Amino acid sequence: MIPVSCGDIATAVGGELVGADPAAVVDGVVAKDSREVVPGGLFVALPGERADGHDFVPAVTEAGVTVSLTTRPIDGCPCVVVPDTQVALGELARYVVAQLPDLTVIGLTGSQGKTSTKDLIAQLVAPYGPTVAPVGSFNNEIGHPLTALQADRTTRFLVAEMGARHVGDINYLCRITPPTVGLVLNVGHSHIGEFGSQDAIAQAKGEMIENVVAGGTAVLNADDPRVAAMASRTEQTVRRFGEAPEADVRATDVKLDENGRPSFTLHADGQSFAVRLQLIGEHQVPNALAATAAVLAAGLTPEQAAAGLNEATTMSKWRMEVTERADGVTVINDAYNANPDSMRAALKALVAIGRARGARTWAVLGPMGELGDTSTEEHDGVGRLAVRLDVNRLVAVGEDARPIHLGASLEGSWGNESAYVATADEALELLGKELQRGDVVLVKASRYVGLDRLATALLQEG
Ligand code: ATP
Ligand code: MG
Repeated sequence: MIPVSCGDIATAVGGELVGADPAAVVDGVVAKDSREVVPGGLFVALPGERADGHDFVPAVTEAGVTVSLTTRPIDGCPCVVVPDTQVALGELARYVVAQLPDLTVIGLTGSQGKTSTKDLIAQLVAPYGPTVAPVGSFNNEIGHPLTALQADRTTRFLVAEMGARHVGDINYLCRITPPTVGLVLNVGHSHIGEFGSQDAIAQAKGEMIENVVAGGTAVLNADDPRVAAMASRTEQTVRRFGEAPEADVRATDVKLDENGRPSFTLHADGQSFAVRLQLIGEHQVPNALAATAAVLAAGLTPEQAAAGLNEATTMSKWRMEVTERADGVTVINDAYNANPDSMRAALKALVAIGRARGARTWAVLGPMGELGDTSTEEHDGVGRLAVRLDVNRLVAVGEDARPIHLGASLEGSWGNESAYVATADEALELLGKELQRGDVVLVKASRYVGLDRLATALLQEG
């Protein structure tokens, strides 16, 4: 964070200084967790589920923070008192970012692949200037401003993942960090329960494009009709990635190697390069194209982008983590998240890995959350797809995943087996009996199901 006086902070957030010297300067980390404060920094007291941040203000004052953002005065502690600390946090971040005119903000949103693509972009731009892009998601109204506040006058690139649960969410986040480059990856099904329809999701994600600054660039997926249509929502330059002929950044000759890693020829701005990703699954190809289009818009050359893609690795946990047990069983842990699109991508990667090794494939699939009315149909569809892709064994885990098993059973003409079990323990028991040397097992579900514990237990058994 750049140095800012308490007086300027109070003005920026519309708060009142209580017990604080207006000339005292904040010149350190802005933290919402009392364990992360530093002397000279700032503490934001947020109401939490278990604890109220306000209870920690005396302790962080003792630890040397210059001031705390609070909703009420706290005895003996310098405070900027505001009606709502979360809103004030956003205002502070907006004020700080506005002092950094040379900062290139690369904002991205989409239903799937935000964190994967954010990590790619961060790795591509980092060699060309100091970059702020924390590992993990940090994409909401708290994580996003906290990330933005890490930027200072030396920062060249800020890579900001932005998530949306409602129309207006992305507008709110873009007000804090107006995107120089605004990228929309895709409009899928996630949070459809909250939004009601895919068109409403597109409305919300497209706010990213409306907020691209004058002279900036909108980066759009040419293959997703709802995203491609967002071109009409900006007057700035538009770059496109995908298979469609109008895309400026494309991939041809996509192949998956025996580890499920894609290689392809990257075509960008009339030049071509051989690329082999260190990431797993075909779904990383559109992410790589999106990242390329974004970094070209941020000033990198196609050659620099291609070199970066060859080097970039996975930074965030549980996303297609492939581990081989001592007994030769391979476990692919993708229990971080699941939706119909990512299920498809993961099943395809599983089959590619299995085929390359001549191995038997298992898909151990739990429920996908947040699907609203379409839940049964979507789970059924995943089961049918597993059959069509010829996954050898399917295990649906948990009541909401039962339609996966039913769909697979109804798809017919499949010489393989599907099972339904109610709990992860039962799945583990079944796998314990049946797994053979060389088998490849994909474990995937929405995070709330906790199937990562099953993946961990499976790895311990080997
Ligand atoms: P969140 O909303 O939880 O922050 P995210 O958009 O950041 O998710 P990632 O964490 O990158 O997305 O990936 C989530 C899941 O989506 C992973 O299981 C991954 O396999 C899958 N995935 C990643 N990229 C794509 C893509 N382009 N298309 C479909 N699925 C994808
Ligand atoms: Mg994410």
